[in-house]
Amino acid sequence: MSHVFPRNSNKLPPVGKVGAGVHLFDADGKAYFDGSGGAAVSCLGHGDQDVIDAIKSQLDSMAFAHTGFLSSDPAEALADLLVLHAPEGLEHVYFVSGGSEAVEAALKLARQYFVEIGQPQRSKIIARRQSYHGNTLGALAVGGNEWRRAQFAPLLIDVSHISPCYEYREKHDGETTFDFGQRMANELEDEILRLGADQVMAFIAEPVVGATMGAVPSVEGYFKRIREICDKYGVLLILDEVMCGMGRTGTLFAADQEDISPDICTIAKGLGAGYQPIGAMLCSGKIYHAIKDGSGFFQHGHTYVGHPTACAAGLAVVQKLTGGLVDQVASKGQQLTDMLNDAFGQNPLVGDIRGRGLFIGMEFVADRDTKAVLDPSHKFNARLKAAAFDAGLICYPMGGTIDGKHGDHVLLAPPFISEPHHFEEVVDKLGAAVAKVSADLG
Ligand code: PLP
Repeated sequence: MSHVFPRNSNKLPPVGKVGAGVHLFDADGKAYFDGSGGAAVSCLGHGDQDVIDAIKSQLDSMAFAHTGFLSSDPAEALADLLVLHAPEGLEHVYFVSGGSEAVEAALKLARQYFVEIGQPQRSKIIARRQSYHGNTLGALAVGGNEWRRAQFAPLLIDVSHISPCYEYREKHDGETTFDFGQRMANELEDEILRLGADQVMAFIAEPVVGATMGAVPSVEGYFKRIREICDKYGVLLILDEVMCGMGRTGTLFAADQEDISPDICTIAKGLGAGYQPIGAMLCSGKIYHAIKDGSGFFQHGHTYVGHPTACAAGLAVVQKLTGGLVDQVASKGQQLTDMLNDAFGQNPLVGDIRGRGLFIGMEFVADRDTKAVLDPSHKFNARLKAAAFDAGLICYPMGGTIDGKHGDHVLLAPPFISEPHHFEEVVDKLGAAVAKVSADLG
Protein backbone atom coordinates (compact mmCIF):
# COMPACT_ATOMS: atom_id res chain seq x y z
CA MET A 1 0.00 0.00 0.00
CA SER A 2 1.21 3.49 -0.83
CA HIS A 3 0.80 6.27 1.69
CA VAL A 4 0.98 8.91 -1.05
CA PHE A 5 -2.45 10.41 -1.61
CA PRO A 6 -3.56 9.00 -4.97
CA ARG A 7 -4.71 11.29 -7.75
CA ASN A 8 -8.00 10.90 -9.59
CA SER A 9 -8.17 7.13 -9.32
CA ASN A 10 -7.56 4.37 -6.85
CA LYS A 11 -5.12 2.74 -9.23
CA LEU A 12 -1.56 3.46 -8.19
CA PRO A 13 0.44 5.11 -10.94
CA PRO A 14 3.79 3.66 -12.00
CA VAL A 15 6.78 5.20 -10.25
CA GLY A 16 8.73 7.64 -12.42
CA LYS A 17 12.49 7.15 -12.27
CA VAL A 18 14.22 9.15 -14.98
CA GLY A 19 13.55 12.30 -16.98
CA ALA A 20 15.67 12.84 -20.09
CA GLY A 21 14.88 15.39 -22.77
CA VAL A 22 11.28 15.01 -23.92
CA HIS A 23 10.80 11.64 -22.22
CA LEU A 24 10.04 10.29 -18.75
CA PHE A 25 10.83 6.68 -17.81
CA ASP A 26 9.11 4.56 -15.19
CA ALA A 27 10.60 1.89 -12.92
CA ASP A 28 10.11 -0.77 -15.62
CA GLY A 29 12.01 1.34 -18.12
CA LYS A 30 8.91 2.22 -20.14
CA ALA A 31 9.28 5.57 -21.94
CA TYR A 32 6.57 8.23 -22.04
CA PHE A 33 6.69 11.24 -24.32
CA ASP A 34 5.91 14.20 -22.07
CA GLY A 35 3.38 15.72 -24.41
CA SER A 36 1.81 18.07 -21.90
CA GLY A 37 4.55 18.69 -19.34
CA GLY A 38 2.05 17.47 -16.75
CA ALA A 39 0.01 20.59 -17.23
CA ALA A 40 2.18 22.85 -19.41
CA VAL A 41 5.08 22.89 -16.97
CA SER A 42 8.09 21.25 -18.63
CA CYS A 43 8.96 23.80 -21.30
CA LEU A 44 12.66 22.82 -21.28
CA GLY A 45 12.08 19.07 -21.08
CA HIS A 46 13.84 16.98 -18.47
CA GLY A 47 17.44 16.87 -17.29
CA ASP A 48 18.46 20.35 -18.42
CA GLN A 49 21.99 20.58 -17.05
CA ASP A 50 22.15 24.38 -16.91
CA VAL A 51 19.10 24.59 -14.68
CA ILE A 52 20.31 21.71 -12.53
CA ASP A 53 23.72 23.38 -12.13
CA ALA A 54 22.11 26.68 -11.18
CA ILE A 55 20.06 24.95 -8.48
CA LYS A 56 23.08 23.05 -7.14
CA SER A 57 25.18 26.16 -7.01
CA GLN A 58 22.47 28.07 -5.12
CA LEU A 59 22.08 25.19 -2.67
CA ASP A 60 25.82 25.33 -2.04
CA SER A 61 25.80 29.06 -1.33
CA MET A 62 22.44 29.78 0.36
CA ALA A 63 19.50 27.42 -0.03
CA PHE A 64 17.01 29.62 1.79
CA ALA A 65 16.65 32.96 3.47
CA HIS A 66 13.36 34.46 4.53
CA THR A 67 12.55 37.58 2.51
CA GLY A 68 11.40 39.28 5.69
CA PHE A 69 15.12 39.58 6.46
CA LEU A 70 17.18 39.05 3.31
CA SER A 71 16.69 39.16 -0.43
CA SER A 72 18.89 37.03 -2.69
CA ASP A 73 20.89 37.49 -5.87
CA PRO A 74 18.75 35.11 -7.94
CA ALA A 75 15.50 36.76 -6.79
CA GLU A 76 16.80 40.21 -7.71
CA ALA A 77 18.21 39.02 -11.06
CA LEU A 78 15.07 37.08 -11.98
CA ALA A 79 12.83 40.05 -11.18
CA ASP A 80 15.04 42.29 -13.35
CA LEU A 81 14.93 39.83 -16.24
CA LEU A 82 11.17 39.36 -16.05
CA VAL A 83 10.53 43.10 -15.94
CA LEU A 84 12.89 43.59 -18.91
CA HIS A 85 10.74 41.26 -21.02
CA ALA A 86 7.33 41.94 -19.49
CA PRO A 87 4.54 43.91 -21.17
CA GLU A 88 5.08 47.64 -20.77
CA GLY A 89 4.24 48.99 -17.35
CA LEU A 90 4.68 45.77 -15.37
CA GLU A 91 7.54 46.86 -13.16
CA HIS A 92 7.45 44.92 -9.92
CA VAL A 93 7.54 41.21 -9.14
CA TYR A 94 6.28 39.23 -6.17
CA PHE A 95 7.54 35.63 -6.07
CA VAL A 96 5.42 32.77 -4.76
CA SER A 97 5.55 28.98 -5.03
CA GLY A 98 2.96 28.26 -7.71
CA GLY A 99 0.01 29.37 -9.80
CA SER A 100 -2.77 29.40 -7.21
CA GLU A 101 -0.61 31.41 -4.83
CA ALA A 102 0.11 33.90 -7.62
CA VAL A 103 -3.62 34.34 -8.25
CA GLU A 104 -4.37 34.75 -4.54
CA ALA A 105 -1.65 37.40 -4.33
CA ALA A 106 -3.08 39.18 -7.38
CA LEU A 107 -6.60 39.31 -5.94
CA LYS A 108 -5.38 40.60 -2.59
CA LEU A 109 -3.11 43.16 -4.22
CA ALA A 110 -6.03 44.47 -6.30
CA ARG A 111 -8.17 44.78 -3.19
CA GLN A 112 -5.45 46.47 -1.13
CA TYR A 113 -4.75 48.91 -3.97
CA PHE A 114 -8.31 50.23 -3.83
CA VAL A 115 -8.25 50.45 -0.05
CA GLU A 116 -5.02 52.43 -0.24
CA ILE A 117 -6.33 54.88 -2.84
CA GLY A 118 -9.51 55.58 -0.89
CA GLN A 119 -11.98 53.43 -2.83
CA PRO A 120 -12.65 50.70 -0.27
CA GLN A 121 -16.12 50.07 -1.71
CA ARG A 122 -14.51 48.32 -4.68
CA SER A 123 -14.53 44.62 -3.86
CA LYS A 124 -16.33 42.87 -6.72
CA ILE A 125 -14.50 40.65 -9.15
CA ILE A 126 -15.58 39.62 -12.62
CA ALA A 127 -14.13 36.53 -14.28
CA ARG A 128 -15.17 34.19 -17.11
CA ARG A 129 -17.04 30.92 -17.30
CA GLN A 130 -15.04 27.84 -18.27
CA SER A 131 -11.82 29.24 -16.85
CA TYR A 132 -9.39 27.87 -14.30
CA HIS A 133 -7.32 29.98 -11.93
CA GLY A 134 -6.26 27.45 -9.28
CA ASN A 135 -7.57 25.34 -6.45
CA THR A 136 -7.15 27.51 -3.35
CA LEU A 137 -10.42 29.09 -2.28
CA GLY A 138 -9.91 32.57 -3.78
CA ALA A 139 -8.55 31.19 -7.03
CA LEU A 140 -11.30 28.57 -7.18
CA ALA A 141 -13.91 31.28 -6.67
CA VAL A 142 -12.74 33.31 -9.65
CA GLY A 143 -12.43 30.17 -11.76
CA GLY A 144 -15.41 29.23 -13.87
CA ASN A 145 -14.97 25.47 -14.00
CA GLU A 146 -18.27 24.24 -12.58
CA TRP A 147 -17.05 20.72 -11.96
CA ARG A 148 -14.12 21.91 -9.83
CA ARG A 149 -16.22 24.47 -7.96
CA ALA A 150 -19.42 22.52 -7.35
CA GLN A 151 -18.90 20.90 -3.93
CA PHE A 152 -16.96 23.88 -2.55
CA ALA A 153 -19.46 26.51 -3.70
CA PRO A 154 -20.62 27.38 -0.13
CA LEU A 155 -17.05 28.32 0.77
CA LEU A 156 -16.41 30.59 -2.23
CA ILE A 157 -16.62 34.39 -2.40
CA ASP A 158 -19.24 35.72 -4.78
CA VAL A 159 -17.76 36.34 -8.25
CA SER A 160 -19.56 37.25 -11.50
CA HIS A 161 -18.74 35.20 -14.57
CA ILE A 162 -19.17 36.39 -18.15
CA SER A 163 -18.80 34.34 -21.35
CA PRO A 164 -15.39 33.20 -22.51
CA CYS A 165 -14.21 34.25 -25.97
CA TYR A 166 -14.88 30.80 -27.42
CA GLU A 167 -15.17 31.17 -31.15
CA TYR A 168 -15.84 27.51 -31.96
CA ARG A 169 -19.07 27.44 -29.98
CA GLU A 170 -20.16 31.01 -29.27
CA LYS A 171 -19.80 32.82 -32.63
CA HIS A 172 -23.11 33.31 -34.41
CA ASP A 173 -23.56 32.31 -38.05
CA GLY A 174 -22.87 35.28 -40.27
CA GLU A 175 -21.11 37.24 -37.51
CA THR A 176 -17.57 38.40 -38.32
CA THR A 177 -14.83 37.15 -36.02
CA PHE A 178 -14.08 40.72 -34.99
CA ASP A 179 -17.70 41.48 -34.17
CA PHE A 180 -17.93 38.27 -32.20
CA GLY A 181 -14.92 39.30 -30.10
CA GLN A 182 -16.40 42.74 -29.44
CA ARG A 183 -19.73 41.20 -28.43
CA MET A 184 -17.99 38.91 -25.96
CA ALA A 185 -15.86 41.74 -24.55
CA ASN A 186 -18.89 44.01 -24.21
CA GLU A 187 -20.36 41.52 -21.75
CA LEU A 188 -17.78 42.90 -19.34
CA GLU A 189 -19.18 46.42 -19.65
CA ASP A 190 -22.72 45.15 -19.11
CA GLU A 191 -21.65 43.27 -16.00
CA ILE A 192 -19.70 46.23 -14.58
CA LEU A 193 -22.76 48.44 -15.01
CA ARG A 194 -25.04 45.80 -13.49
CA LEU A 195 -22.82 45.50 -10.40
CA GLY A 196 -22.24 49.25 -10.12
CA ALA A 197 -19.25 50.82 -11.85
CA ASP A 198 -17.65 52.02 -8.62
CA GLN A 199 -18.03 48.63 -6.91
CA VAL A 200 -15.88 46.51 -9.24
CA MET A 201 -12.19 46.06 -8.47
CA ALA A 202 -10.90 43.64 -11.11
CA PHE A 203 -11.51 41.49 -14.14
CA ILE A 204 -9.41 38.33 -14.40
CA ALA A 205 -8.94 36.16 -17.50
CA GLU A 206 -6.52 33.73 -19.09
CA PRO A 207 -5.27 35.15 -22.42
CA VAL A 208 -5.41 31.60 -23.82
CA VAL A 209 -7.72 29.36 -21.80
CA GLY A 210 -5.89 26.20 -20.76
CA ALA A 211 -7.10 23.54 -18.37
CA THR A 212 -10.84 24.00 -18.68
CA MET A 213 -11.19 24.42 -22.43
CA GLY A 214 -8.00 23.14 -24.05
CA ALA A 215 -5.99 26.03 -25.50
CA VAL A 216 -8.69 28.47 -26.60
CA PRO A 217 -7.20 31.81 -27.69
CA SER A 218 -9.32 34.93 -27.89
CA VAL A 219 -9.99 36.56 -31.26
CA GLU A 220 -8.35 39.72 -32.56
CA GLY A 221 -9.53 42.85 -30.83
CA TYR A 222 -11.10 41.11 -27.84
CA PHE A 223 -8.50 42.01 -25.23
CA LYS A 224 -8.05 45.53 -26.63
CA ARG A 225 -11.75 46.11 -26.02
CA ILE A 226 -11.45 44.52 -22.57
CA ARG A 227 -8.59 46.91 -21.76
CA GLU A 228 -10.68 49.90 -22.93
CA ILE A 229 -13.60 48.88 -20.76
CA CYS A 230 -11.39 48.35 -17.70
CA ASP A 231 -9.81 51.77 -18.21
CA LYS A 232 -13.19 53.45 -18.68
CA TYR A 233 -14.47 52.21 -15.32
CA GLY A 234 -11.20 52.17 -13.36
CA VAL A 235 -11.27 48.37 -13.07
CA LEU A 236 -7.93 46.52 -12.80
CA LEU A 237 -7.16 43.96 -15.51
CA ILE A 238 -5.50 40.79 -14.20
CA LEU A 239 -4.18 38.40 -16.84
CA ASP A 240 -3.56 34.90 -15.58
CA GLU A 241 -0.64 33.54 -17.60
CA VAL A 242 0.12 30.73 -15.18
CA MET A 243 -0.36 28.18 -17.94
CA CYS A 244 -0.06 30.12 -21.19
CA GLY A 245 2.85 32.36 -20.17
CA MET A 246 6.61 31.88 -20.26
CA GLY A 247 6.83 31.37 -23.99
CA ARG A 248 4.16 28.68 -24.33
CA THR A 249 2.23 30.66 -26.96
CA GLY A 250 5.30 31.93 -28.85
CA THR A 251 6.10 35.10 -26.89
CA LEU A 252 7.41 35.19 -23.33
CA PHE A 253 4.16 36.79 -22.19
CA ALA A 254 0.95 35.84 -23.99
CA ALA A 255 -0.32 39.42 -23.50
CA ASP A 256 2.28 40.60 -26.00
CA GLN A 257 0.22 39.05 -28.78
CA GLU A 258 -2.84 40.98 -27.65
CA ASP A 259 -0.95 44.26 -27.82
CA ILE A 260 -2.07 45.31 -24.35
CA SER A 261 -0.60 45.48 -20.86
CA PRO A 262 -2.50 44.20 -17.86
CA ASP A 263 -2.29 45.90 -14.48
CA ILE A 264 -1.37 42.60 -12.86
CA CYS A 265 -0.10 39.39 -14.43
CA THR A 266 0.39 35.97 -12.87
CA ILE A 267 2.90 33.37 -14.07
CA ALA A 268 4.08 29.99 -12.76
CA LYS A 269 4.42 26.54 -14.39
CA GLY A 270 6.95 27.29 -17.18
CA LEU A 271 8.78 29.74 -14.90
CA GLY A 272 10.28 26.88 -12.93
CA ALA A 273 9.86 24.45 -15.83
CA GLY A 274 9.31 21.71 -13.24
CA TYR A 275 12.79 22.04 -11.72
CA GLN A 276 11.51 24.04 -8.75
CA PRO A 277 8.04 25.14 -7.63
CA ILE A 278 7.84 28.86 -8.33
CA GLY A 279 5.27 31.39 -9.47
CA ALA A 280 5.15 35.15 -9.62
CA MET A 281 2.82 38.10 -9.75
CA LEU A 282 3.88 41.17 -11.71
CA CYS A 283 2.20 44.51 -11.22
CA SER A 284 2.29 48.04 -12.54
CA GLY A 285 4.18 50.92 -10.97
CA LYS A 286 0.82 52.59 -10.27
CA ILE A 287 -0.29 49.77 -7.98
CA TYR A 288 3.11 49.30 -6.40
CA HIS A 289 3.53 52.97 -5.56
CA ALA A 290 0.01 53.34 -4.20
CA ILE A 291 0.96 50.77 -1.57
CA LYS A 292 4.59 51.78 -1.09
CA ASP A 293 3.68 55.43 -0.61
CA GLY A 294 0.54 54.53 1.35
CA SER A 295 0.67 51.96 4.12
CA GLY A 296 4.09 50.89 2.81
CA PHE A 297 3.34 47.20 3.16
CA PHE A 298 1.55 44.61 1.01
CA GLN A 299 -0.35 42.67 3.62
CA HIS A 300 0.38 39.23 2.29
CA GLY A 301 3.11 36.61 2.45
CA HIS A 302 4.06 32.96 2.63
CA THR A 303 7.08 31.26 4.16
CA TYR A 304 8.63 30.52 0.78
CA VAL A 305 8.07 33.86 -0.94
CA GLY A 306 11.15 34.57 -3.09
CA HIS A 307 12.76 31.23 -2.27
CA PRO A 308 16.38 31.62 -3.44
CA THR A 309 16.79 28.11 -4.87
CA ALA A 310 13.48 28.35 -6.71
CA CYS A 311 14.51 31.77 -8.03
CA ALA A 312 17.89 30.36 -9.16
CA ALA A 313 16.02 27.73 -11.16
CA GLY A 314 13.62 30.35 -12.55
CA LEU A 315 16.51 32.58 -13.54
CA ALA A 316 18.27 29.79 -15.45
CA VAL A 317 14.97 28.88 -17.14
CA VAL A 318 14.11 32.42 -18.22
CA GLN A 319 17.67 32.99 -19.45
CA LYS A 320 17.22 29.97 -21.73
CA LEU A 321 13.76 31.02 -22.84
CA THR A 322 14.83 34.56 -23.70
CA GLY A 323 18.14 33.36 -25.14
CA GLY A 324 16.45 32.09 -28.33
CA LEU A 325 14.24 29.18 -27.31
CA VAL A 326 10.94 31.09 -27.24
CA ASP A 327 11.65 32.32 -30.77
CA GLN A 328 11.26 28.74 -31.99
CA VAL A 329 7.90 28.12 -30.36
CA ALA A 330 5.61 29.68 -32.98
CA SER A 331 7.09 27.72 -35.90
CA LYS A 332 7.28 24.48 -33.93
CA GLY A 333 3.67 25.00 -32.87
CA GLN A 334 2.68 25.44 -36.49
CA GLN A 335 4.48 22.21 -37.42
CA LEU A 336 2.65 20.24 -34.76
CA THR A 337 -0.70 21.87 -35.61
CA ASP A 338 -0.24 21.00 -39.30
CA MET A 339 0.57 17.41 -38.39
CA LEU A 340 -2.50 17.19 -36.14
CA ASN A 341 -4.67 18.63 -38.91
CA ASP A 342 -3.30 16.03 -41.34
CA ALA A 343 -3.88 13.19 -38.90
CA PHE A 344 -7.19 14.23 -37.31
CA GLY A 345 -8.69 16.90 -39.61
CA GLN A 346 -11.17 14.41 -41.10
CA ASN A 347 -11.72 12.35 -37.95
CA PRO A 348 -15.48 12.33 -37.22
CA LEU A 349 -14.77 12.69 -33.49
CA VAL A 350 -12.61 15.80 -33.81
CA GLY A 351 -14.57 19.05 -33.96
CA ASP A 352 -11.83 21.63 -33.51
CA ILE A 353 -8.04 21.87 -33.49
CA ARG A 354 -6.87 25.21 -32.07
CA GLY A 355 -4.29 26.93 -29.93
CA ARG A 356 -1.29 29.18 -30.09
CA GLY A 357 2.39 28.23 -30.23
CA LEU A 358 3.06 24.92 -28.47
CA PHE A 359 -0.23 25.19 -26.59
CA ILE A 360 -2.66 23.17 -28.67
CA GLY A 361 -6.08 21.71 -28.00
CA MET A 362 -8.36 19.28 -29.84
CA GLU A 363 -12.04 19.19 -28.97
CA PHE A 364 -13.98 15.97 -29.46
CA VAL A 365 -17.63 15.88 -30.51
CA ALA A 366 -20.35 13.34 -31.21
CA ASP A 367 -21.31 15.17 -34.41
CA ARG A 368 -19.08 17.57 -36.31
CA ASP A 369 -22.01 19.38 -37.97
CA THR A 370 -24.09 20.03 -34.88
CA LYS A 371 -21.03 20.14 -32.54
CA ALA A 372 -23.01 17.97 -30.12
CA VAL A 373 -20.83 17.01 -27.16
CA LEU A 374 -20.00 13.38 -26.40
CA ASP A 375 -22.17 11.67 -23.82
CA PRO A 376 -20.38 12.46 -20.52
CA SER A 377 -21.17 8.97 -19.21
CA HIS A 378 -18.71 7.63 -21.82
CA LYS A 379 -15.92 9.38 -19.90
CA PHE A 380 -14.13 9.91 -23.18
CA ASN A 381 -11.41 12.09 -21.69
CA ALA A 382 -10.55 9.64 -18.91
CA ARG A 383 -10.41 6.79 -21.40
CA LEU A 384 -8.24 8.84 -23.72
CA LYS A 385 -5.82 9.70 -20.93
CA ALA A 386 -5.47 6.02 -20.02
CA ALA A 387 -5.13 4.85 -23.64
CA ALA A 388 -2.53 7.52 -24.41
CA PHE A 389 -0.59 6.66 -21.26
CA ASP A 390 -0.62 2.95 -22.23
CA ALA A 391 0.70 3.99 -25.65
CA GLY A 392 3.51 5.97 -23.96
CA LEU A 393 2.14 9.49 -24.26
CA ILE A 394 1.47 11.88 -21.39
CA CYS A 395 -1.19 14.36 -22.49
CA TYR A 396 -3.87 16.34 -20.66
CA PRO A 397 -7.45 15.42 -21.58
CA MET A 398 -10.35 16.99 -19.70
CA GLY A 399 -14.10 16.64 -19.75
CA GLY A 400 -16.68 19.09 -20.92
CA THR A 401 -18.25 21.42 -18.40
CA ILE A 402 -21.35 20.26 -16.60
CA ASP A 403 -23.43 22.87 -18.43
CA GLY A 404 -22.86 20.83 -21.62
CA LYS A 405 -21.47 23.88 -23.43
CA HIS A 406 -18.10 22.38 -24.13
CA GLY A 407 -16.94 18.99 -25.31
CA ASP A 408 -14.17 16.72 -24.11
CA HIS A 409 -10.77 17.95 -25.17
CA VAL A 410 -7.11 17.04 -25.04
CA LEU A 411 -4.43 19.61 -24.34
CA LEU A 412 -0.93 19.25 -25.78
CA ALA A 413 1.95 21.33 -24.42
CA PRO A 414 5.20 19.59 -25.41
CA PRO A 415 8.65 20.87 -24.43
CA PHE A 416 10.04 23.68 -26.59
CA ILE A 417 13.10 21.49 -27.32
CA SER A 418 10.88 19.04 -29.26
CA GLU A 419 11.93 18.34 -32.84
CA PRO A 420 9.74 17.25 -35.79
CA HIS A 421 10.40 13.54 -35.19
CA HIS A 422 9.12 14.02 -31.64
CA PHE A 423 5.91 15.48 -33.01
CA GLU A 424 5.54 12.37 -35.18
CA GLU A 425 5.75 10.32 -32.00
CA VAL A 426 3.05 12.48 -30.36
CA VAL A 427 0.71 12.25 -33.34
CA ASP A 428 1.21 8.48 -33.75
CA LYS A 429 0.61 7.73 -30.08
CA LEU A 430 -2.36 10.06 -29.83
CA GLY A 431 -3.77 8.52 -33.01
CA ALA A 432 -3.48 5.04 -31.52
CA ALA A 433 -5.20 6.23 -28.33
CA VAL A 434 -8.08 7.95 -30.14
CA ALA A 435 -8.56 4.86 -32.34
CA LYS A 436 -8.64 2.61 -29.26
CA VAL A 437 -11.18 4.73 -27.41
CA SER A 438 -13.44 5.12 -30.42
CA ALA A 439 -13.32 1.33 -31.04
CA ASP A 440 -14.12 0.67 -27.35
CA LEU A 441 -17.11 3.02 -27.53
CA GLY A 442 -18.28 1.34 -30.74
N1 PLP B 1 -4.04 29.62 -13.25
C1 PLP B 1 -4.08 28.90 -14.37
C2 PLP B 1 -4.43 29.58 -15.66
C3 PLP B 1 -3.80 27.53 -14.35
O1 PLP B 1 -3.87 26.82 -15.49
C4 PLP B 1 -3.45 26.94 -13.12
C5 PLP B 1 -3.13 25.49 -13.06
O2 PLP B 1 -3.41 24.73 -13.96
C6 PLP B 1 -3.42 27.73 -11.98
C7 PLP B 1 -3.71 29.06 -12.07
C8 PLP B 1 -3.06 27.12 -10.64
O3 PLP B 1 -1.70 26.81 -10.63
P1 PLP B 1 -1.12 25.77 -9.55
O4 PLP B 1 -1.66 24.44 -9.92
O5 PLP B 1 0.37 25.90 -9.72
O6 PLP B 1 -1.56 26.22 -8.21
